[in-house]
Amino acid sequence: DSFSSIFTEEHNHNEESKHDLSVSSTSSSSMNGIDGVPVSNERIAYKLKGYFDLAKEEIAKGIRAEEWGLHDDALLHYRNAQRIMNEASSTPSPSYISSNEKEKVRSYREKISKWQNQVSERLQALGKRTGVGMSENKRTVASPSPSSSSVSSTASRYRRGSSQKTPVPRGGIAMARNPKDAVASPKPVKESGNVYDDKLVEMINTTIVDRSPSVKWDDVAGLDGAKQALLEMVILPAKRRDLFTGLRRPARGLLLFGPPGNGKTMLAKAVASESQATFFNVSASSLTSKWVGEAEKLVKTLFQVAISRQPSVIFMDEIDSIMSTRSISENEASRRLKSEFLIQFDGVTSNPDDLVIVVGATNKPQELDDAVLRRLVKRIYVPLPDSNVRKLLFKTKLKCQPHSLSGGDIDKIVRETEGYSGSDLQALCEEAAMMPIRELGADILTIQANKVRPLQYDDFRKSMAVIRPSLSKSKWEELERWNSEFGSN
Ligand code: ATP
Ligand code: MG
Repeated sequence: DSFSSIFTEEHNHNEESKHDLSVSSTSSSSMNGIDGVPVSNERIAYKLKGYFDLAKEEIAKGIRAEEWGLHDDALLHYRNAQRIMNEASSTPSPSYISSNEKEKVRSYREKISKWQNQVSERLQALGKRTGVGMSENKRTVASPSPSSSSVSSTASRYRRGSSQKTPVPRGGIAMARNPKDAVASPKPVKESGNVYDDKLVEMINTTIVDRSPSVKWDDVAGLDGAKQALLEMVILPAKRRDLFTGLRRPARGLLLFGPPGNGKTMLAKAVASESQATFFNVSASSLTSKWVGEAEKLVKTLFQVAISRQPSVIFMDEIDSIMSTRSISENEASRRLKSEFLIQFDGVTSNPDDLVIVVGATNKPQELDDAVLRRLVKRIYVPLPDSNVRKLLFKTKLKCQPHSLSGGDIDKIVRETEGYSGSDLQALCEEAAMMPIRELGADILTIQANKVRPLQYDDFRKSMAVIRPSLSKSKWEELERWNSEFGSN
């Protein structure tokens, strides 16, 4: 940590000196000195600045690689930086040098030598740790035993991480196994080198959904496969943790996918209201913060709060928008966000005591990042409602509306609405329900509520001309293909 903070400090310092140098370098007609010819005062400063910048780039890459747990990459970059700096320090200063330039050169040499020490320290530390898994993150880790010296505790943490598969990085937030205790004290604890902003924790707490029932389990028509999976992964394990251990340990990642408007979000809401788990409703907008670099901290904090308040469900609606396939053109922030998510997710899945489940929902599963997909082991297809589900849906929707539809009428509507999604059906019913009202004309202001005529088959037939299935056949066939290749059911 201190390394990176020194680094930033140096970086800022460098920004100032860059300006000076560009002024002096423009006055020099030729930049590249011929070997053997004494280098002019301007050129030595210019040359050192070049080395300095190159080394800076490599160190930045090394730090980043280390943060991501990519130790081999970090080694590579640090070694590059070391080579560049060795070259810099073996470049001799010219015999004549103005005092002004002398000062500049001295300052560069000083910085470079400081960095040389830091880099060789990092190289030594990394050399001892090669072969360590992804989920280790130097900056995430809070010392589990604050009494031990920082170096030895770091080493033991890394050893532990690779051999016992215990996720260690989880400092910062006070831990409580009992959810009731946790609710009372999810306070961030500040430790040296590991400061979690109260503000971040507060932001995370606002994504927690309270359990006041908005959607009941039975409101969701059909979707038996998805309901069963959620029952086994979330609802029952949260109620009977003792039964769901060992081989019965629930899967930690679930993906609900399928065409839009068929109850994915609704199902998640039902889980939030019916399960005992703390429910975090995380959206792209709540994670992509306007402060650069904050997003990954937010992810880190999210998982820590989730662990402290477990059993927890982290629900990411429209997960494709946050966790899409990584591309070259994507920005740095979202790349880091994804990496942090993967690291944290691996942390909770590898600890048998943690019950933190990640549920993602998407209608574009093809666009999900492979690494994310791999971690969402259970993938449940939420299809367009079949005739049975449509019938069920109509019956529940018509329950609170006077109508004169016979069983045969409903069957007819069910047959005619092949290809309609759940939300299309909702819209259809709403449109049909408006028909008797539209007939009233001016009477609408005076008529008694119970005198409005009941709904009839014809209302639905007319509405079907207005409300069409919103999804083309080719679209959902694509999803069905994806399901047969990657889905769990
Ligand atoms: P998207 O992929 O666009 O986010 P979604 O699958 O999340 O879609 P929901 O928001 O859950 O869709 O559903 C939209 C609306 O459709 C619901 O509010 C509800 O009125 C209706 N609906 C969809 N499926 C069902 C269902 N199985 N049972 C009852 N209502 C449903
Ligand atoms: Mg949705």
